[in-house]
Amino acid sequence: MRTTCIYCGKPLGKKPQIVLVGKDRKEKLLCCSVQCYNDTKRFIEWDRRYRLISYIVIAVCVGMNLFVIGNEVDRWWKYIPTVIIGICLSVWPLVFTHYHTYERYGITRTLKYVRLAGYVIIAAGIIFTVFGQ
Ligand SMILES: [Zn+2]
Repeated sequence: MRTTCIYCGKPLGKKPQIVLVGKDRKEKLLCCSVQCYNDTKRFIEWDRRYRLISYIVIAVCVGMNLFVIGNEVDRWWKYIPTVIIGICLSVWPLVFTHYHTYERYGITRTLKYVRLAGYVIIAAGIIFTVFGQ
């Protein structure tokens, strides 16, 4: 049984709020407060709305990256798809398909880590674009 809040990662109180998700709403996510319950619901809604588009953008950019690598393209823009992937991750850090992935650190912290990874990728892409010529 989980003892920490799915949203903020803090210990659950005596009366955890339960968010039901997944197919048939069988999965239970536990929240420490009404505030976290509402935020989790909002997150799930946001995730549902943007995950597909974020996957499409990332898939297109990964495809472009493979094209660049496969064809040994040596143009100034060859790292731009990488930058776009980074932007995508920082805007929509929705790479995890399963909500239980968030149980370890809580949604807020997990999203922060993914965003951070996105910023690192953006920075690397820009540095390679500027100095990699
Ligand atoms: Zn909480």
